[in-house]
Amino acid sequence: MVEYRIAKDDRVRESIARIFSTRHAVNSQRQLKRLVEKDLKADEVFRVGESRLRQIAIDSGKVDLEIHCRETIEMRSLVRCPVCAERLARVRNMTVFGGTVTLGYRCSRCGYWTGLRKRVPTRYVFTRRG
Ligand SMILES: [Zn+2]
Repeated sequence: MVEYRIAKDDRVRESIARIFSTRHAVNSQRQLKRLVEKDLKADEVFRVGESRLRQIAIDSGKVDLEIHCRETIEMRSLVRCPVCAERLARVRNMTVFGGTVTLGYRCSRCGYWTGLRKRVPTRYVFTRRG
């Protein structure tokens, strides 16, 4: 069994900055994970979980996240963002009767959105900001 350590958030952030100082885009979350783990590897093997890595990348300010989704036929209300776990805002529209109707949901932190038919994230592309 390989011994490994869990990489700390700030080390992962530094690693993301190093990676995007030389490349423009990383085409999947798995690839970003491989790059970060390779970058952090000195004498030890570091591990970072993909969902934590995604959250650190979103908060780093270094990258823009492109979220690829597939639309499902599932219709249900959502509270938390499936990408970053932030609370989602409802997208509403006024009805002719003066009420409102929910059209979908949007995340202000990562940009995920969905209509009433739930969009499930399938792939993430990370591109250098600016
Ligand atoms: Zn989000």
